[in-house]
Amino acid sequence: MATPQAKISFHGAAGTVTGSCHLLEYEGRQILLDCGTFQGGADLEARNAQPFGFSPKSVERVILSHAHQDHAGRLPKLVKEGFRGPIHCTHATKDISRPMILDAAHIMETEAGWKSKRLRRAGREGIEPIYTTEDVEPCLQLFQGHDYHADVDLGGGVKVRFTDAGHILGSATVELRLPWDGGERRFVFSGDIGQWGQAIIRDPEVPAAADWLVMESTYGDRSQEAPTNVEPEMVAMLADTAKTKGMILIPSFALGRTQEMLFYFHKLAAKHQLDRHSVYLDSPLASRVTEVYRAHPECFDEETQKLIATQGEVLDFPGLRFAETRDDSMRVDLVTEPRIVVAASGMCEAGRVLHHLKHNLWKASTHVVFVGFQAEGSLGRRILDGAHSVRVLGETVCVSAKLHNFSSFSAHADREGLHRWTSAITKPPRKTFIVHGEESAAATLGSWLEHDRGFDVEIPDHHDSFILD
Ligand SMILES: [Zn+2]
Ligand SMILES: [Zn+2]
Repeated sequence: MATPQAKISFHGAAGTVTGSCHLLEYEGRQILLDCGTFQGGADLEARNAQPFGFSPKSVERVILSHAHQDHAGRLPKLVKEGFRGPIHCTHATKDISRPMILDAAHIMETEAGWKSKRLRRAGREGIEPIYTTEDVEPCLQLFQGHDYHADVDLGGGVKVRFTDAGHILGSATVELRLPWDGGERRFVFSGDIGQWGQAIIRDPEVPAAADWLVMESTYGDRSQEAPTNVEPEMVAMLADTAKTKGMILIPSFALGRTQEMLFYFHKLAAKHQLDRHSVYLDSPLASRVTEVYRAHPECFDEETQKLIATQGEVLDFPGLRFAETRDDSMRVDLVTEPRIVVAASGMCEAGRVLHHLKHNLWKASTHVVFVGFQAEGSLGRRILDGAHSVRVLGETVCVSAKLHNFSSFSAHADREGLHRWTSAITKPPRKTFIVHGEESAAATLGSWLEHDRGFDVEIPDHHDSFILD
């Protein structure tokens, strides 16, 4: 039997964090790993409308690591352009993907509508959204949910297995086994690696071996504070806003951080530390995703399972309010009571958080708490980097609010976590590809793997491809 032909090419999250999309070719079969959206600034986002770099009609199947937009957000475009195969993922990822992708389509339609209006007023032609809500259902029909650790047969001896990535509900590391010269070779795609000790979900599982490794590097050059360190800062913030009747504003993605924040506030409420505050969950999408979390207790860690057994619901507490409509959301800015507002989007690029920023960022009584990764070029990053004023919804707003960076709430493993994730791989893979990181993060992780672990490392650029041998 001839040695198999295999190749990997990187059509997203290569040299940048977002847009995860990697094409594995094996014996003429094309298996796509993730199909995510580019986020963080107009230049990157322009790539969402560009061709994939491969033909969607030729892709046999997709394997999806998790439901975050930067991993799943271009799937309807893939289907719109002719992909008809199965999309494999965990059960929880399948369930979360429905509200997430519908929301993404809705935002795209709305934004394209606004832009078109502006263009037409200027005598130019309007633009089409990348996909619409009508394109979503045919895409969702292709999803196939699987249990963690089940061997899924993809035909021709190829098998895939999902292990816990510990990043968000349903998140997985993907292990593919490929028949090779009478034996088999293992191809491991990390997906996004979570932080050990993260609330609600289980810790990441470390892979035991890999012949080829595609690994994320979001925090490859950063260490995060221990979760216990934020407690005094939070308590001080609660005391300050109780006095000033101010707002604690938490820009947060609807999926992941938001549920972790609810879990954290549940604990504070149980200790009566939130008695003077209302907590507004200002995102209908986050409310829907929270429902999906509640429906998948099989993904929870031991601590959470025990809490549920003794206290019942862990993602709810007295004082939690849901701002469903836009009017509900607007009213949150008008009330004069100490309040915590959790609103999307996490990097302040869109969503309801924008009008809260416009109305509250200039007030010294406001606290803004960043709980997630802020990509280069995003509004969140500019605020966090110390801009004196920023443009929000077409207006200049000065930054007088107190800023906090709770990196311990990050869904991503830090430098030490990423090192730990590779610790069980005793034999260096044939090749390790570093993805899903900004330049310095990828380079720092890459050189550590090379020098300390003896790995053979590549940091691919957009659309680069490599023979696997
Ligand atoms: Zn993610
Ligand atoms: Zn990601």
